[in-house]
Amino acid sequence: MTSSAGPSASGNNWTGMLSMAKDTPSRHTGTCELCGKDTDHITKHHLYPRSATRRAFFTPEQKDSLAAMCWPCHCIIHQLILADVLARDFHSIELLNTHSRIQAWLQWAESWTMEHLHSLMVPPRLRQPQNQSPIQNALDAIWVRNENTFPRLEGKGKRTRALAIRGQIRQFPGLAHAAKPDIEAAMRANPEYREWQQWVFGGEG
Ligand SMILES: [Zn+2]
Repeated sequence: MTSSAGPSASGNNWTGMLSMAKDTPSRHTGTCELCGKDTDHITKHHLYPRSATRRAFFTPEQKDSLAAMCWPCHCIIHQLILADVLARDFHSIELLNTHSRIQAWLQWAESWTMEHLHSLMVPPRLRQPQNQSPIQNALDAIWVRNENTFPRLEGKGKRTRALAIRGQIRQFPGLAHAAKPDIEAAMRANPEYREWQQWVFGGEG
């Protein structure tokens, strides 16, 4: 069997991969079938991932085939192995255990508590800000509010979200008009912010 690695194939940057977690953990307790750790945030892993079963024929039994998995393991396997390859070659806990990089992950994860693993999964923009200006913290807060708690904005274009953020900036406590130059400087310092600068501070149209 050939090695079937996903986009993060180079090196074992487990902490970097954990920080890429996209979904939100559940609130249910359980034991991970892959690493064996107990967790308060057990997730259900589709052994035949839905994105794969949507595109090809799979039996109802395969589509409903689930494994209980902790959030870190779930995040890692989806980064290591593409969905189509999971469905084809790694559709059981036994098969996953034969994957050399899964083995390396399990060996690494064994030495850490679930609490520590979870602490590595907080997206960078939600981590406790360090050495950041109050303006940048405020910008981050605006970003988080718009990206995570405004469902109506999900799936909308960047410009739509930026214009929504412009509305937020005008109301955000402590961000008076006088702070605009500082906000612009923070945007210039961060490439991601710079791309939004024109939309957020551009013309009133
Ligand atoms: Zn696990």
